[in-house]
Amino acid sequence: MMINMNPLFSEEENLVKDLAQKIATKVLKPNSNTWSKQSHFPKAALDAFAESGLMGMLIPEAYQGSNATYTAYALALIEIAKGDAGCSTVLSVHNSVASLPILQFGDDQQKNLFLADLATGKKLGCFCLTEPQAGSDASNIQTTAVKIQGQYRLNGVKQFITVGHQAQLAIVIAHSQPFPHLPPSKNLTAFIVPTDTKGFNVGRIEHKMGQATAPIAQIILENCDIPESYRLGAEGEGYKIALSQLESGRIGIAAQAVGMAEAALEESILYTTQRQTFGKYLYEHQAISFKLADMATKLAAAKQLVLYAAKLKDLKLPALKAAAQAKLFATEQAEKIVSDALQLFGGYGYLQDFAIEQIYRDVRATTLYEGTSEIQKMIIARELLKH
Ligand SMILES: Cc1cc2nc3c(=O)[nH]c(=O)nc-3n(C[C@H](O)[C@H](O)[C@H](O)COP(=O)(O)OP(=O)(O)OC[C@H]3O[C@@H](n4cnc5c(N)ncnc54)[C@H](O)[C@@H]3O)c2cc1C
Repeated sequence: MMINMNPLFSEEENLVKDLAQKIATKVLKPNSNTWSKQSHFPKAALDAFAESGLMGMLIPEAYQGSNATYTAYALALIEIAKGDAGCSTVLSVHNSVASLPILQFGDDQQKNLFLADLATGKKLGCFCLTEPQAGSDASNIQTTAVKIQGQYRLNGVKQFITVGHQAQLAIVIAHSQPFPHLPPSKNLTAFIVPTDTKGFNVGRIEHKMGQATAPIAQIILENCDIPESYRLGAEGEGYKIALSQLESGRIGIAAQAVGMAEAALEESILYTTQRQTFGKYLYEHQAISFKLADMATKLAAAKQLVLYAAKLKDLKLPALKAAAQAKLFATEQAEKIVSDALQLFGGYGYLQDFAIEQIYRDVRATTLYEGTSEIQKMIIARELLKH
């Protein structure tokens, strides 16, 4: 079947977008409302992502990944988020912060052992950075990694871990104190932890506002012994490893926000061309058509920032500021666009029968995770004032 080729993107990028769009419309969207009541990342979504190569988008073919560009990655996440926001969160976490640290910092043995399983979806990944007292201030991590007879013993509590209880593999950042005279951020170390390791325990599964298909769990590490060969990078590199991957993570979150806003705009266009008040279709009231125009313009600007940050990554150019700007702008604007969309639906927007109600709850998380809006502003300001 012919696909709609956008000349701005390569053939491969168009194909990835089309594939993601098909999964979104055939597998995700028809089930999203039912899944929203279950608080579970569904197997049907995992299978569809795995079959189509979406679980290893940024992993090279040598490890059975699809070696897609960041642009293709962003386009795919936009489409998946239109089908189900929570599923796009899991896909983003798995592809970026759960897989890329191994690709970028792993040794050959670690890459051979773990990457293909992640890229093919045989194993689902999670990323354990946040703790009850350490969110924005990730350097305040209290989880310890103590070296005992060629192993590391991990102890501590990780908070808000997306699919922490469903994943098979975790990237865990812990405090290993290699350089006690240096600041906390120089004393963190990253580990690859198979979640069936004794002492990797699931605590509370949180009740949250939306994105039921991206459940979050508290992970309690209790004398969780990990072989030294599962340490990622050198001792003291944990903070660097965690933050370096947040750049690609942020592009993913910005893209999913664009997807949710796009879905909200499409729902709004449909609704305002069907519903009538005062003898006219809603869109025929200028106030309403102007609102649609504003929503579409904010969305276009957000999308451009996301694709610009992705392009910088594709060109291997510095993307820290661009990724933070994309994340800040796209998530903040998406929240406004979705809120405006709900307003256009009137009272019906508040009903669970209408998709917009779920999107409104789902989009709220995007300004919080992978660095809050305030943290993005700190990064942008720091980059501006660097010289
Ligand atoms: C749905 C969801 C999924 C998540 N998934 C994961 C995951 O998979 N893995 C993981 O490790 N973490 C995950 N997180 C955690 C997330 O990254 C943190 O919640 C986030 O970093 C904020 O940390 P915090 O909640 O502790 O807020 P805090 O750091 O306590 O911040 C509270 C408020 O203060 C603001 N603030 C803090 N410091 C400053 C400052 N210096 N200047 C100005 N404002 C400031 C913040 O922006 C925020 O508004 C997830 C969170 C959510 C909600």
